[in-house]
This record gives sequence, C-alpha cells and structure tokens, in this order.
Amino acid sequence: MATTNGTIENGQPDKKHPMLPRPVCNLEVQHCKIFINNDWHPSASGKTFPVYNPATGKKICKVEEADKEDVDKAVEAARAAFQKGSPWRSLDASGRGRLLHKLADLLERDRVILATLETMDTGKPFLHAFLIDLEGCIRTLRYYAGWADKVQGKTVPVDETFLCFTVHEPVGVCGAITPWNFPLLMLIWKMGPALCCGNTLVIKPAEQTPLTSLYVGSLIKEAGFPPGVVNIVPGYGPTAGAAISHHPDIDKIAFTGSTEVGQLIKDAASKSNLKRCTLELGGKNPCIVFADCDLELAVECAHQGVFFNQGQCCTAASRVFVEESIYPEFVRRSVEYAKRRMVGDPLDPKTEQGPQIDQEQFNKVLEFIQSGKEEGAKLECGGSAIGDRGFFIKPTVFSDVTDNMRIAKEEIFGPVQSIMKFKNMEEVIKRANGTQYGLTAAVFTSSLDRALNIASALQSGTVWINCYNALHAQTPFGGFKMSGNGRELGEYALAEYTEVKTVTIKLSQNKH
Ligand code: NAP
Ligand code: MG
Repeated sequence: MATTNGTIENGQPDKKHPMLPRPVCNLEVQHCKIFINNDWHPSASGKTFPVYNPATGKKICKVEEADKEDVDKAVEAARAAFQKGSPWRSLDASGRGRLLHKLADLLERDRVILATLETMDTGKPFLHAFLIDLEGCIRTLRYYAGWADKVQGKTVPVDETFLCFTVHEPVGVCGAITPWNFPLLMLIWKMGPALCCGNTLVIKPAEQTPLTSLYVGSLIKEAGFPPGVVNIVPGYGPTAGAAISHHPDIDKIAFTGSTEVGQLIKDAASKSNLKRCTLELGGKNPCIVFADCDLELAVECAHQGVFFNQGQCCTAASRVFVEESIYPEFVRRSVEYAKRRMVGDPLDPKTEQGPQIDQEQFNKVLEFIQSGKEEGAKLECGGSAIGDRGFFIKPTVFSDVTDNMRIAKEEIFGPVQSIMKFKNMEEVIKRANGTQYGLTAAVFTSSLDRALNIASALQSGTVWINCYNALHAQTPFGGFKMSGNGRELGEYALAEYTEVKTVTIKLSQNKH
C-alpha cells in the first residue's frame, strides 16, 4: 500500500511508530513578533492581532500585525541579503545544503514543540501534526539539502563556432503566502527549494496560524542563515499579503490558498512588475471506484481522503464516484467508517478529527450541509455541529448526490463526503473532468489497463491508483486548470526558483 511521507498510510498515523510522543503541556508561545534580518520587531503601526485555539475558542496570544511598511522593510532586508558578494550569495552551494540539513536537524530536535504549536493553532490532531506534517517538513528539507549543489545548467551544441552553456541562477527575492490548513508544511514546501537555489524570502503566514512559521524564524537564526535570507511578516491578506503581491522589488511569489485569492495575486503580479507566480489552489477531486476494486481498501482510502485534516485539504476526495453494482455496499461501509471516526480534543492521541479552523469556515461548512439537504441529497450520517465550544462538525456522509448540487461542485473544505453513482468508464471520465479544478484524482480498480487508461484521460496534476494522499518530497505537486500554475516539490520545483542564463562565447576558427 502506498504511504505518505513514509510514516502514514492513507492519511492515518502508523500506530506502530516506535515512539508515539506526547504534546508539551501548557506550552508558552515565545515568538509573536515580525522577523526581519534575524531579529524580532514590533509592527510599524503598533497594531497586533489575536490568535485563537479553534478547539477551545480561547485566545492563545497576540501577534504583531505587519502591514505595507513592515513588508517594505522585509523586502529591503531580503534584497540586501541577495546582493552579489553578500554572505548568502558568497556561500558555496554545498554550504546552502549544509544549512538546510541543519534546519532539518533543528526541526527534528523541536518536533514535539512544533507539533504542539501546530495543534494549538490549527486544531489538527497532535499525532497527525507530529507524524505527518513534521515528517513531511523534515523530509522535504533534507531532499532539497541534497539538491543544493546539483542545480546545474547544460552545455548546448550550437551551430557554427560558439561555445554555449546555461547557468541556473536564483530568481531573487521570493514572496511566500501560505494557508492555515498545513501552515508549516506549506511553508517548508516553499522554503526548501527557494533556499536550495539561493533565493531570499519574505513569508506571510495565514492570519489564523502564524505561530509555527514564526518559530521556524528562530530556527533559521539558530541554524546560521545570514540575516535577511528569511523574513516573516505575520498579518492579514488584503494588507500584508497584497503588499507582497504588488511589491515592485519581489521577483517571484509562491502561494497556496483559494482560487479567488490566487487570481488576485496573479493580477497584482501582472500589474506591478510581472513577478513570476506559482499558485497551488483549490480542488474538487474525483475518487473513482470501479466494481472490480479491493472494496475495503477503496472505502478506507475514500474515507481518509475526504476526512483527513477535518476535510480541510486541497486534495480532499470530495467527489466519490462509485460504480452502480457496488454502490449500496460502498455507501453502507462508508457510513460505518464515518460513524466510528473519533472527533474531539486534538491533543488526545485517540482523536482522528479536531475542529474546523474558525467560525467562518465552520459556518460555511454547515451551510454547504444545509444546501445538500435542500437540493435532495440523502443525509446518511452527521450533518450538524458537536458541542458548544470550538468548531467541531460531525463526519457527514451524503449519498444520491448529483453533479448539479453545490456539494458536488464547490470546494467545501470540511468533513463532508459526497457519494455519487456511475454506470461506465466513458461517463465517469466526462463527469470527473467536468469541473474548473484539476488538482488530484484517484482510481480504485484491479485492472491495470483500466487504471492507466483513466489516468491518461483525467485532467489532473496527480492521479493516485489504489491509494490516496500519497505525496512525496521527490514528486511534483500542482494543478491543471484553475487548481493552479507551476509545481511544488521534486526536481520540477527547482525550475520555479531559478532563472536560466545562456552564456555564448565566440571561438576563433580552429585551423587544425
Ligand atoms: P485564502 O484567503 O486564499 O488564504 C490563503 C492566504 O492568502 C492567507 O495567508 C491569506 O491571508 C492570504 N490572502 C488573502 N487575501 C489576500 C490578498 N488579497 N492578497 C494576498 N494574500 C491574500 O483562504 P481562506 O480565506 O483562508 O480560505 C477560504 C477558502 O480557500 C477555503 O474555504 C478553501 O476552500 C480554500 N483554501 C484552500 C487551500 C489550499 O490548500 N488550496 C488552503 C486554504 C484555503 P489571510 O490570513 O488574511 O486570509
Ligand atoms: Mg482569508
């Protein structure tokens, strides 16, 4: 069975992990300021914003609120660190690799602290944060540490008497704007390749979840990265985020979040200085189950595929298409899984599902559930909130979902499974592709022919066959259509963080 980042199967922590950790009790937040030039600063405006724990609704701390003026300072620092002759630009490529390994060592050392912080900030189960998010971060950093001195150009055989070669140079100052569903992992997916290639960074974490990114600031300094290489400006999207996307001295931007904001960012990039953009956006991902599949595997993968991370995944299996003959049995078993899912305190090791990130997302998910009921889908289980504290929602399964319903068309970003019926391959391909999105897709079948035919027909950046959420640092990730531009991870991401320079030398005629 495929594994994700080596330690989980289909979104579930491996209970056989040799050292199941415990979260830190009463963890105090140490880093709540703006991080520029390896130092902590208050905001220029004097403003702060509150950060809440979504499991309790209680305020964790206040964080300094960066705005345009702070972003300008961060960009200045990042630009200075990028100048030719600076300590960062003078460092050997292998030295950049050593720094990335050192950063990975520090993440390993502080893994329990970081996983606890991530749980407090996002509400995701602590064991998931520890075994999935942190493992993914550490592996990604080590993967790009290995690449640092292997990013190289080519010699190109050209016509006539020239010697021609290419050099892959860093792009420059890169902006990173990250979401709240995987705050640390999405940061590291950008930081790893950006630093590997020799760029400098200005990072804006999501307003809901800035704490682990700020903690990483302290590790950047401890690892020995020169001042200005990494700068972190916590704040709001329309202010700090927009200041980054409009900035005339930022050369590239990497964004993960909603398609709507992705469009704003590309627009700002084009109107300011045509900075390059990589966008990793939404999905309405088909999970296609044929009657000849291993049914138990398909049911489990479809369940983990949609409910993992409280359903707050761009990869969520939010449209499950099941072949007619096995439909009733598939629904029956899926409902059993959903009813068994442990929802509760994310610090409890038995918990599989925590709260939604905030009141806004909580309301949005409940509205989607209401629309499903009103539009005639059959509510099999769940369908409501749990308790009166925090933003918990029951794992919800709808059957008899049709393509025109809102729950089948829009990204819900919550614990809601929509199960649809199909008759044949041609029909299901058409329906699976009938969306503006194209991020991931999954197919469950025992026929290799069918799997490969459908993989080729699906308009999707990733196709999983008989597995789900099998992501690796080595393989590219990104979307077709309105799911995004460019790729993160793997060798492909290096191209997003480098410019190609062609050097052509005129040779004198060789008379020999
Ligand atoms: P979002 O607004 O797209 O947030 C992503 C990041 O973009 C955050 O750091 C956000 O800052 C920032 N941002 C917002 N407006 C901006 C602007 N005008 N210019 C530059 N940056 C800006 O996502 P959301 O509002 O948190 O969630 C809304 C929906 O987006 C979700 O329901 C889900 O459907 C989708 N989503 C997708 C992903 C994904 O992984 N693809 C992740 C998160 C959300 P703030 O913190 O101020 O918002
Ligand atoms: Mg937002």
